Amino acid sequence: MSELTRMGAADLAQAIRSGAVSSVEVTQAHLNRIYDVDTGVHAFLHVSGEVALEAARAADARRSAGESASSLDGVPVAVKDVFTTAGIPTTCGSRILEGWVPPYDATVVSRLRKAGLPILGKTNMDEFAMGSSTEHSGYGPTRNPWDLERIPGGSGGGSAAAVAAGEAPLAVGTDTGGSIRQPGAVTGTVGVKPTYGGVSRYGLVALASSLDQAGPVARTVLDAALLHEVIGGHDPLDSTSIDRPLPPVVEAVRNADLSGLRVGVVKELGGEGYQSGVLARFDDAVKLMIEAGAEVVEVSCPHFVYGLAAYYLILPSEASSNLARFDAMRYGLRVLPEGVDAPSAEQVMNATREAGFGPEVKRRIILGTYALSSGYYDAYYGQAQKVRTLIARDFTAAFEKADVLVSPTAPTTAFKIGEKLDDPLAMYLNDIATVPASLAGVPGISLPSGLADEDGLPAGLQVLAPAMADDRLYRVGGALETMLQERWAGPLLDRVPKLEVRT
Ligand code: GLN
Repeated sequence: MSELTRMGAADLAQAIRSGAVSSVEVTQAHLNRIYDVDTGVHAFLHVSGEVALEAARAADARRSAGESASSLDGVPVAVKDVFTTAGIPTTCGSRILEGWVPPYDATVVSRLRKAGLPILGKTNMDEFAMGSSTEHSGYGPTRNPWDLERIPGGSGGGSAAAVAAGEAPLAVGTDTGGSIRQPGAVTGTVGVKPTYGGVSRYGLVALASSLDQAGPVARTVLDAALLHEVIGGHDPLDSTSIDRPLPPVVEAVRNADLSGLRVGVVKELGGEGYQSGVLARFDDAVKLMIEAGAEVVEVSCPHFVYGLAAYYLILPSEASSNLARFDAMRYGLRVLPEGVDAPSAEQVMNATREAGFGPEVKRRIILGTYALSSGYYDAYYGQAQKVRTLIARDFTAAFEKADVLVSPTAPTTAFKIGEKLDDPLAMYLNDIATVPASLAGVPGISLPSGLADEDGLPAGLQVLAPAMADDRLYRVGGALETMLQERWAGPLLDRVPKLEVRT
């Protein structure tokens, strides 16, 4: 692996700025790395080499002219395949969108381009972001660089694996119930779900509109903050975008400090059902926070135990409505029913959705349609919305006692490919610690807490903050990262096993 593909984004940006290396060299090094290892990892669904190199040449030209488009000018990035990209295929990991090339850029993507970040390609994901392992992709699973027999988390497993494998220094993902944080946890990378409305959803193919949130995936907390500042902030094209200045997240990392901070350990997010090595690393991190001057208290959020049940009613309900747009008329696949002479629009729609959607997507559409039907709306969807309010109130109460809340990000380290694929409930349980923040719209970060003793795989620590206090995540994350790196004698990602290189 070339030195350039081991570096973080902040260091790469600095090297490009100083002229030590060009953006073309950095971008080419990552394209080479993708060529070398992605047959094994399968983080990418589409590699946009020419687009990336063209942007890199433009960044280099700016530098020669003494100009800079942003603090990350010239640093390449990978984009989850759920963002529309003008001229670059977008499939959402689904066969139903195979071959679709969007006519416009998502706001996140146009901001990346404007800030001068070359787009390396589109990363693999569970179909329409439904899943926790990337095994539900219509194009085959992504593999975890720590162990290719294991899952990289989901739905953004492609983005997390790309960063962990050195195929990209940065990536963007989306987190509806944990899809940035949980892949971060199981790949040893950093992932942030911003406050709902903090990053534009315009051009982000909708899964559940009241939950979806785009955010950064990176090797370090500082890199995540730099990317957050590029993609975040108000967007008039998204009616749920918050019209207030973005909290100063980069500054928060630079001033990372825990003294006097009140940290709440959430009683309901831990204990039974969590792997012992994950809990041990969590406890270590809490001890480090105390040593650094934080005041740690236990807080109880009694309604969090209903989080998964509420989430898995609200999400399918919204998804069943959002996915109605895939009707065989407007985008991607169109399948004609067999043996029908002049099929009706409805018959074509049926045949297309039958062929184009995978089993998890069908399961959720059926569940959501049922939960929204007139006879069951009050009993299921209505009840779930009430639980959502109770969870939001739990957060409000907890944030009176603590400035941030902490928990493990996911209950286990990366499991084996195939292990939970046929058991949807076991799959859903991975999201137990991440869905409460999604339901309440508050921000969260996952950072690597160390390696679990029993399997040597990365475990994740989650920090949650009140809405619009995203800077607290970075303040805590930055301080913890420094302490954890001391404890582990360097960045965890340096320990990713050597991947077989294509010859
Ligand atoms: N694993 C969760 C789900 O399957 C989260 C998905 C997401 O955040 N996109 O719904």
